[in-house]
Amino acid sequence: MECPGCRAALNWVVWLDVGRFVCKGCDGVWLPHDQLGELGRKLGIRISVTSSDHTPRDAARPCPQCGDAMGEHGDAVRIDVCPPHGTFYDAGELAAILAPLIQRGQSE
Ligand SMILES: [Zn+2]
Ligand SMILES: [Zn+2]
Repeated sequence: MECPGCRAALNWVVWLDVGRFVCKGCDGVWLPHDQLGELGRKLGIRISVTSSDHTPRDAARPCPQCGDAMGEHGDAVRIDVCPPHGTFYDAGELAAILAPLIQRGQSE
């Protein structure tokens, strides 16, 4: 699969027993939805990206799995979403999203 950000090859990497595709070119991360759910379970947090809360945009990146234009999701950190397949994070975005979720999860 190609990175939606820079077109370099995506490499399958396993972290915390959860697989993800990492781009060697830009450090972007592609997470299929099932792996995103698995990551949430491992970390004890709820992460949900649904098809209804994404907005299409003009300069859309293509989904690495189906090639369709992805929408955007989120406010502070905007990630790319293909509703049937997964989510793409630029370098550092996944950590930026997970950090406050993990904090909240631990304080509950
Ligand atoms: Zn890339
Ligand atoms: Zn797709």
